[in-house]
Amino acid sequence: MKKNCWEITKCGREENGRESGHLGVCPAATDKAADGTNGGRCGGRICWDVAGTLCSGKMHWSYAAKQATCLSCEVYEKVRREEKTNFKPSLPKAPQVDDRNHTQQGRKLLSSIALRRPGQTDPQDGWPVGGHQRTR
Ligand code: SF4
Repeated sequence: MKKNCWEITKCGREENGRESGHLGVCPAATDKAADGTNGGRCGGRICWDVAGTLCSGKMHWSYAAKQATCLSCEVYEKVRREEKTNFKPSLPKAPQVDDRNHTQQGRKLLSSIALRRPGQTDPQDGWPVGGHQRTR
C-alpha cells in the first residue's frame, strides 16, 4: 500500500487527524483533483504541488514559496524513488485562456451582430437573422 504524506510525516493534519481539529485539515489531504497522482489519495503523493499546505506548522501558499523546502523533503524523495519512471513531478495544469484572443473574437462577433439587419442571412450558415426565428 502506497503511503500518503500524512502517513509518512505523521503530521496529523489529514481529515480526522489528531491535529486537524485545532490546526485545520491540510489541502493536500482534501484536494480531490489530485486524487490518484503517483498512486496517492487526494494530494498525498503530490503535496509539493498543492498550494496552501501546512507542513512544519507553516503555510505554503504557492509552489514558489514551497519549492525550497518541498524538493528536499522526505515525502518528495520517497515518492520519486518509489514511482521511478512513472513519477509525476507536478499536477496537470488547467488550460490557459488567451484573453487577447477572446477579446478579439468578442469584438468580431459584436460587430457582425451590429451590422446585420432584420431579414439578412448569417454569412456563416445562411440562416436568416434579426427577428426571424430559426426552425430546422
Ligand atoms: S502536505 Fe505536509 S502538512 Fe499537509 S498533509 Fe502532507 S505532510 Fe501533512
